[in-house]
Amino acid sequence: MELKVLGCSGGIGSGRHTTCFLLDDDILIDAGTGITRLSHEQLTAIDHIFLTHSHLDHVLGLPLLLDAVGDRRGKPVIVHALPETLEILSDHLFNWKLWPDFREIPDESNPWVRFSPLPLGSSIELVGRRLTTLPAHHVVPACGYRITGQSGSLVFTGDTTSSDALMHALNDMGDLRELIIETSFENELRDIAVASQHHWPDSLAQELRRLKSRPRIWITHLKPGNEDAIVAELRQRIADRDIRQLAQDQVIEW
Ligand SMILES: [Zn+2]
Ligand SMILES: [Zn+2]
Repeated sequence: MELKVLGCSGGIGSGRHTTCFLLDDDILIDAGTGITRLSHEQLTAIDHIFLTHSHLDHVLGLPLLLDAVGDRRGKPVIVHALPETLEILSDHLFNWKLWPDFREIPDESNPWVRFSPLPLGSSIELVGRRLTTLPAHHVVPACGYRITGQSGSLVFTGDTTSSDALMHALNDMGDLRELIIETSFENELRDIAVASQHHWPDSLAQELRRLKSRPRIWITHLKPGNEDAIVAELRQRIADRDIRQLAQDQVIEW
């Protein structure tokens, strides 16, 4: 299994793109601005999109993707997310005001997109790849994903601050190999991190002390321009683990 990072920044500017990962060639995890780096052919091949939450930096490519390739596919794109997240998309995005409701285009029996609610803790298996929702703690309903293949699990937390439920879930996994977890702000911006329910280096250090396994740890969703400061603070506070900054175009195989 292969995960390619199309975007992993907490914002845009100077070539940075927001969260969008390509799993093999037919699944997207989140649909931030990283999606715009795919060719039209690659966009047409996307059959499933798993969303962590409804924030624009994670979903803004979805309406544009449907418009770009819907008439070329012959089958709908399936959007998997928490029921609460899909409700937000229904109410505030695909509402015929901000964007047409492609669940009814060209008609309801043959739409360009279908929503597939995935409650917390539930799994779906797609050709040998199992995706399971994990708890997260953010300002809107949010989840992470565990992606399990033959050689173990990769976890992407999505946007989150400290979460007992997530740490319990991670400590219950016997096969955690890769952990992609966010740290959005440096310690100086702790108040903003608390208000927006993201991690900062001190909070992540505290969280990782509770993690019993030793996966490779990839840091994502860093605020643009503050990347070096965040990573330096993390390395200083988490000296006993191998901390790596997730990079655009990086490929993780497991
Ligand atoms: Zn968010
Ligand atoms: Zn975000």
